Amino acid sequence: MMFTENCGMSSTISLPNCSCCHRHIMPNDKCVKFNCPNCGTDLIWRCESCREAARNYTCSQCNFQGP
Ligand SMILES: [Zn+2]
Ligand SMILES: [Zn+2]
Repeated sequence: MMFTENCGMSSTISLPNCSCCHRHIMPNDKCVKFNCPNCGTDLIWRCESCREAARNYTCSQCNFQGP
């Protein structure tokens, strides 16, 4: 994984990926995260834009698709 962006912060946290659009979720994003309602093991992330657009997510563990 390459980090080419330098936003002036020295933190080395790994950004989660949105389960809908697979973009990195920024720390100031109004995202939501929750466990998969089907298998309960995978952590689903939805970024702000996907949440507003009500895009479907797909669980990477059980391929459950939900709103
Ligand atoms: Zn998204
Ligand atoms: Zn699942």
